[in-house]
Amino acid sequence: MKVLVLNCGSSSLKYQLIDMENESVIAKGLCERIGIDGSKLTHKPTGKANYEVEAPMPTHTEAIQMVMDALVDLEHGVIKSTKEISAIGHRVLHGGSKFTESIVVDQSVKDAIRECFDLGPLHNPANLMGIEACEKAMPGTPNVAVFDTTFGMSMPEKAYLYAIPYEYYEKYSIRRYGFHGTSHMFVSGEVIKFLNLDPQKGKVIVCHLGNGASISASIGGKCVDTSMGLTPLEGLIMGTRSGDVDPAVLQYIMNKDHIDINEMLTILNKKSGILGLSGGISSDFRDVEAEREKGNHRADVAMQAYIYRVTKYIGAYTAAMNGVDAIAFTAGVGENDKKTRKAICENLSYLGVKIDDKANDVRGEARVISAPDSKVKVVLYPTNEELAIARETVRLTTK
Ligand code: AMP
Repeated sequence: MKVLVLNCGSSSLKYQLIDMENESVIAKGLCERIGIDGSKLTHKPTGKANYEVEAPMPTHTEAIQMVMDALVDLEHGVIKSTKEISAIGHRVLHGGSKFTESIVVDQSVKDAIRECFDLGPLHNPANLMGIEACEKAMPGTPNVAVFDTTFGMSMPEKAYLYAIPYEYYEKYSIRRYGFHGTSHMFVSGEVIKFLNLDPQKGKVIVCHLGNGASISASIGGKCVDTSMGLTPLEGLIMGTRSGDVDPAVLQYIMNKDHIDINEMLTILNKKSGILGLSGGISSDFRDVEAEREKGNHRADVAMQAYIYRVTKYIGAYTAAMNGVDAIAFTAGVGENDKKTRKAICENLSYLGVKIDDKANDVRGEARVISAPDSKVKVVLYPTNEELAIARETVRLTTK
């Protein structure tokens, strides 16, 4: 069974065609600048040369058609006909409180994704466009929506409610949803198998440390708390996002600088985090670490604050679960940056965490990085959101 996985942004579309017999990627690629001059498809068929096409893509419909054409192309293609694609899995950002699970798309699902436009204004409209474009291009092929928010749906009320008047939850569904859900679901589930933990009771903290960053606590693969909130702005310090901030800071800056809430949120989303704390060096951790090594004080403090915030959340989530069996690192920084992993783990000696420097000298490979006598296992586990989406798609279309 072959599954196409799509991740549509407002002007981009990423895809992977996965053969679910052996979970191997047959082809992947990217459409860029959809709806803008200079649209381009980059198609990467496994075992063949990359293929680039520049052609107008006014909407996602043309982009999907170009992906289909590339997949069946005589020279660069990997399948004979799009009929070989059994189902399409779509990453959808926000499912609101309606969806506690991934779901096969029908009209009511599309209506619900539309209802969540104001909760995910940048992503949900693009996700829906991707679904509708696939319906046009491949009528009859099932589409499955895999929401970034469903992993957080198992959180108890005490974890997902904000301490604001309850009527805002009732009227507007204001609550903690959490994001990177597909990654947290995948990594927490895989780590339970990888470490042979109790499938019902294994307590895992997943640190998804990429440009966006979030952390989750789960028991038996079910989320009990996670750091992102109604939107991805809450929680850890990220590349450009502030994470947790006293909300009164917003009012103070807005009054002083005469800016409105939209400008303020742009500052918190795009100009803060490591970029802001480092005094504008970069949102890329590699640049900030390079400056830190040259002795740049702002870069040093930015990295210290980043590590401190992750450490505090691990402590909080260990308390929330009354213990932890495993801590997993994943995503760009988590999979590649041994120094940051080590610095976080060194702050966890009170939990009996001991990092093994030799084992930690690794990138992008599933591996235990704690010492054999560490009381809590620490692992590096590469995330694979596309595979998680493809597995959900198979599960829901082959019942
Ligand atoms: P992601 O959002 O998961 O793609 O992660 C992207 C982030 O990973 C970027 O901000 C990079 O700075 C960071 N990253 C990638 N490789 C490294 C590395 N070797 N050391 C530190 N950070 C890295």
